[in-house]
Amino acid sequence: MKDFEFQRSFLKDVSYQNETITITTGYIIDFYDYIVEQTTGKVLRGNANEKLRVTYEMKFRQTLDKNKKITKCPNCGAEVDINTSGVCEYCHTKLVTENTRWVLTEKKTTNQEYI
Ligand SMILES: [Zn+2]
Repeated sequence: MKDFEFQRSFLKDVSYQNETITITTGYIIDFYDYIVEQTTGKVLRGNANEKLRVTYEMKFRQTLDKNKKITKCPNCGAEVDINTSGVCEYCHTKLVTENTRWVLTEKKTTNQEYI
C-alpha cells in the first residue's frame, strides 16, 4: 500500500439509546494496493497502475454519564459527594467518573473502487 491520499470524512449517523451515544463516521481514502514479488518485481495481486478509492466506516460509542454523580466510594464504599473535593473524605481515594471516552466499536469497508 502506498501514496495514501485523504479525500474527506463525513458524519453519517448519530443515535442515542440507553444513555449511550453512537456516531457513525466515514472516511474516503485513495491509495495503491498491490503485492509485488520481490525477486522479479512482478505484481502478484492488486493493481500497481490504478489507484483505489476506499470508503471506511467507523462507529464510536460514548456513555453519556459524564455529569452523573458518584454516590459511593469504589474503594471503601462510603457515601460521598464528588462535587465537594473529588476525593473520598474517608480514605482519600480519587473519585473519577468512568466510561466517558469515545470507544471505537466497529470498523468496516463500505465501498472500494478503482479511480
Ligand atoms: Zn473511600
